[in-house]
Amino acid sequence: MSVSGGRVVVVGASLAGVRVVKALRRRGFDGELVLVGEEGELPYDRPPLSKGFLSSQGPVAVRQLEPESFYEGVEVRLGARASGLSLRERSVLLADGSRVRADHVVVTTGARARSLPGFADGDRVARLRTADDARRIRSALTEARHVLVLGAGFIGCEVAAAARRRGVDVTVVEPAPTPVQRGVGALVGGTIAALHRDRGVDLRLGVSVECGQEHSGGVIVSLTDGTLIETDFVVLGVGAAPNTEWLKESGLDVSNGLLCDDRCRAVGGGGHVWAAGDVAAWPSGRTGERVRIEHWTNAVEQAGVLAVNLLDDGTEVTHDPVPYVWSDQYEHKIQILGRVSGDDDTTLLRGSLDERQFSLAYSRHGRIRGLVAFDLPREIAARRPLVAAGAPLAGVLDGRHG
Ligand SMILES: Cc1cc2nc3c(=O)[nH]c(=O)nc-3n(C[C@H](O)[C@H](O)[C@H](O)COP(=O)(O)OP(=O)(O)OC[C@H]3O[C@@H](n4cnc5c(N)ncnc54)[C@H](O)[C@@H]3O)c2cc1C
Repeated sequence: MSVSGGRVVVVGASLAGVRVVKALRRRGFDGELVLVGEEGELPYDRPPLSKGFLSSQGPVAVRQLEPESFYEGVEVRLGARASGLSLRERSVLLADGSRVRADHVVVTTGARARSLPGFADGDRVARLRTADDARRIRSALTEARHVLVLGAGFIGCEVAAAARRRGVDVTVVEPAPTPVQRGVGALVGGTIAALHRDRGVDLRLGVSVECGQEHSGGVIVSLTDGTLIETDFVVLGVGAAPNTEWLKESGLDVSNGLLCDDRCRAVGGGGHVWAAGDVAAWPSGRTGERVRIEHWTNAVEQAGVLAVNLLDDGTEVTHDPVPYVWSDQYEHKIQILGRVSGDDDTTLLRGSLDERQFSLAYSRHGRIRGLVAFDLPREIAARRPLVAAGAPLAGVLDGRHG
């Protein structure tokens, strides 16, 4: 499609969707732009929801991604859920029965927080994905004496840290032997565990939840080791799932996210369907495996790539990112660059784990795959080229690569 004319319908009004709109405009697109979003408020930033938004004592507001003026000239349809996509008619079906015609459909419907059987959202149970979820948890933290967090991934750990900062007693239950084990492995996971225990979090590792029973005064949760935990409020931090149900009948591959090529074009979408952000899956140019990345930076970068390719002005770019994600817990910043796993070899590059200020290289077969920086933010920028290139670890260690 050229920069002149045409109608682009972006489904999912959050980070990736807004960045697609922004990038299309910046590249001179002057056709029609429609932004369809299920939530009832203007797009906002999610990372602060598990951090400053929960931990601060005073009044806080959700941080909007763009000011209201940004949406001038865009047909914004909030509170509108897409329920289907017709490739033949090139239209998006909305839950109210109306259809939105499109020359191109951009899928940016992201992901939602997973639930656990027996823990339906309610007065005493919440997941954390939306601003409304965060408002509910924030208000629970002002009244609760004790909060139980199920899952010690990044979001669970951030909620635990925020709750402790608000003076609330916290228990965290995690089936793995350390927090964020799948993300960073046992070594850094152990550092994160110590961080939380030092702040008074009752961290129960290697144990799962059996069931929960709500009663008038709170919730009683039983664990697989036979323990019972009585709490005022339960927060689930058990991962996310891509929002693709609305595409189920479209004929597109939505087995884990919407499958695209590395140009952000949905496979089987006839060049008219695109995806970016948490919902998009594609074959990684680095590893060949199908990847789907639930990180802020990926959504931004992929949206930019999508816009370039959609406009088809002779420039084609591929999306082959070096994944990057951060987490803020108490006063600490944990950053992960590249792909790291508990199965990788780990090598300390700088600092010390005991002092909780370090960078750690993750490698396989002598080549660096990723890096964790714990309160050493400069390490990320400095080592990025090495991680991107999969540089030999030996070279990194003897100083040849900084
Ligand atoms: C609490 C929290 C903290 C986070 N912290 C970090 C962090 O520290 N660092 C980091 O890198 N990443 C973090 N993330 C992840 C980051 O926020 C996401 O990667 C990013 O929001 C992805 O943007 P997206 O636009 O792809 O999807 P989303 O932000 O999930 O947006 C998708 C939008 O589509 C809408 N939608 C879904 N289905 C439909 C439908 N059928 N019709 C219409 N609209 C629909 C949804 O309502 C939503 O508004 C955090 C996420 C959360 C929830």
